Amino acid sequence: MVPLPPSWHKTGVLGFNPSDARVDGRPRCPKCGTGLKEHSTVFGPYRVRCVDLGCDISIRQRDSFAVLRPRAELVGQRLLEVAAEHRRRQAAN
Ligand SMILES: [Zn+2]
Repeated sequence: MVPLPPSWHKTGVLGFNPSDARVDGRPRCPKCGTGLKEHSTVFGPYRVRCVDLGCDISIRQRDSFAVLRPRAELVGQRLLEVAAEHRRRQAAN
């Protein structure tokens, strides 16, 4: 069971419900902003490379984008919840 968020989530403090926030499924290169392509390796880790041939970004990561995306979504939603709580407290003072 997942606990329901506190009622202030529905008050529109941020103008939207943090649990509705989604992560874009197209990861971008941290250097040039172009898309990244994921390659699986023989022994499990993933190699992520920028699709721009002029960019040298290559990142090794343990998990695939498919695994990382829902995690990022939960982390982002929590950050938005904290921001909403902060604004609510500011508004109450
Ligand atoms: Zn790049």
